Amino acid sequence: MKHLELVVACIAGLTFASNHVIRAENKHYPVNRPPLAQSKFVDLPLGAVKPRGWLKDQLTVQANGLTGHLDEFWPSLAKTAWKGMEGGEAWERGPYYLDGLVPLAYVLDDARLKEKVKPWIEWMLASGQPNGWFGPAKNKDRWPLAVAMKVLTQYCEATNDARVIPLLTNYFAYLKNAPPDWPDKDWRGMRAMENAVSAFWLYNRTGDPDIVKVSESIQISSFKWISYFLNFPYTTEVIRKGIKYGHPSHVVNIAMAVKYPGLAYVQSHDENHKKAVYQGIQSLDEHHGQVGGRFAGDEHLSGRRPTQGTELCAVVEYMFSLENLAKQFGDVAFSDRLEMLAYNANPGACTADYWAHQYDQQANQVLCTVAKRKWSTNGDTSNLYGLEPNYGCCTSNMHQGWPKFVSHLWMATHDQGLAAVAYGPSEVKAKVADGIEATITEETEYPFDGAIRFTITLSRTATFPLHLRIPRWADGAQLKVGGKSISPTAGTFAVVEREWKPGDLVELYLPMKLRTETRYNNAAAIVRGPLVFSLKIGEQYKKVKSYHDTLPVADWEIYPTTPWNYGLILDRANPEKSIAVTTRKPGKVPFAQADAAVVLKVKGKAIADWGIVDNSAGETPVSPIASNQPAADLELIPYGNTRLRITEFPVSETSASQGKKK
Ligand SMILES: [Zn+2]
Repeated sequence: MKHLELVVACIAGLTFASNHVIRAENKHYPVNRPPLAQSKFVDLPLGAVKPRGWLKDQLTVQANGLTGHLDEFWPSLAKTAWKGMEGGEAWERGPYYLDGLVPLAYVLDDARLKEKVKPWIEWMLASGQPNGWFGPAKNKDRWPLAVAMKVLTQYCEATNDARVIPLLTNYFAYLKNAPPDWPDKDWRGMRAMENAVSAFWLYNRTGDPDIVKVSESIQISSFKWISYFLNFPYTTEVIRKGIKYGHPSHVVNIAMAVKYPGLAYVQSHDENHKKAVYQGIQSLDEHHGQVGGRFAGDEHLSGRRPTQGTELCAVVEYMFSLENLAKQFGDVAFSDRLEMLAYNANPGACTADYWAHQYDQQANQVLCTVAKRKWSTNGDTSNLYGLEPNYGCCTSNMHQGWPKFVSHLWMATHDQGLAAVAYGPSEVKAKVADGIEATITEETEYPFDGAIRFTITLSRTATFPLHLRIPRWADGAQLKVGGKSISPTAGTFAVVEREWKPGDLVELYLPMKLRTETRYNNAAAIVRGPLVFSLKIGEQYKKVKSYHDTLPVADWEIYPTTPWNYGLILDRANPEKSIAVTTRKPGKVPFAQADAAVVLKVKGKAIADWGIVDNSAGETPVSPIASNQPAADLELIPYGNTRLRITEFPVSETSASQGKKK
């Protein structure tokens, strides 16, 4: 009862606060309330967007794989203190797992997974203490509560469970009353701004001004990520000289923190904070950038060599950061990078059946074995595909990648329409115009193909805009609506506003021209739409350890059975002259090596002295490369379909337009 009164009081307080600012805002979903800076787009509740086609198949693979079973046997979860049990973990692993399980259950609308979610949430909602703290009594650390709040906000969106808002409100009251405790030496301090995601969510629903004050105090009292990104400390030069590894060089902290200046901007309206987001991403690309939009950290920042690893936690956290940034700022660049991570590094670090994952993935990955590699600090099992190679954080945190990507494909707009922020076969059901419900089905094999067809289902005609992202790479895009065709500009959102009739169609064609990227040592990477391509290498799996009698949970080494040391014969500026493209429908296991939906045929020459050094592919030979070997026929397939791969290729010196940088 006490909780209820509190919420009602907060809502009453807010009506007053928002009265003096009149803005055009989305009327159907919670928007940023003053004094927060308005976001470009508005999140739809979890469950409004559902996967279809191959994307649904992929999430079903995930549900039938580790995500759907991990809590049944993995000791950290099977005896978790987050369900009140003894002997398991009381820290981040339970909340991490749920941060993926909850969205997966609701985007798939899967009864079995929803049943799995229930006891966790029931226990969590009953765990609130009089002072506002919640979770296992054993845990005294604020960090796992920041993750738990992200779980509860998603759960509340999907179910409207009335117990969530009071629990979160009480926890923010705890944070207000307790002294700031966000030390730089601890995860809770480095990741303190993760709390702001839930703070804004809660404030937008209750209007309690104390929540914004707590969030501002967290930013002031925690690690200075804004000046870190404005004056990036870990340049190539600094790394070469050797650094003392610590929290500020930790890859997962940084992947999460990419959004923190953006969250600070929401509170401060300071353009310098927004600038820090862009400068941060640019510095990470310049000094640690890897093909496919990620940056290397194994598990500390480790430069641009394609054999340096990126931890899987950093991939899924970077995706979540970009989902937040795309919503706040509406910049196509954030969505372009989000798709690249979602469709390359995200599947590439997992086996196609989603029963095993890597801790560290490599762009040039030719041997996955228990062995020493030139990681900054990680151990010898880090590039195995397994249950918990190196350490179990990714085992529990990886699950959020796919389902949160799906739930962020579509967002609401302030002109009472919808925005396609990222593409993939899906269906969105949401309120538009004066509140009528529209269903838009998106039929496509994207990212394997560039044709996208939207069908609009309405109970009557309605006028509202559709904002369609035109990726920066999509020169020559075509948009057809009602018998008219337009050529929208790449790097913008095309807005189609009209009176829609039930059954109306919109056809978007995004040209999938081949592109090359110049990488470390003047190597070339081949890109098509948001997909990066890798050499298909014969893969021999060797089981190192089994974890279950009936479930296929195991650690795997993978050995190459075909040569990988090729340079490409390639016209970098006009890659279509040297590469033939074939496409087919994705298989039921979309990222299986055998079923790649796109295959590129290209010629290459073996480079005799390019071999394995320190258990990874040796230093990429500097292009252009001389080779007197005969030209061989090579097949490249999407990065996500490979477990062994070369992705950053030397280029043969007979190739045209050699070394021209983009
Ligand atoms: Zn991890």
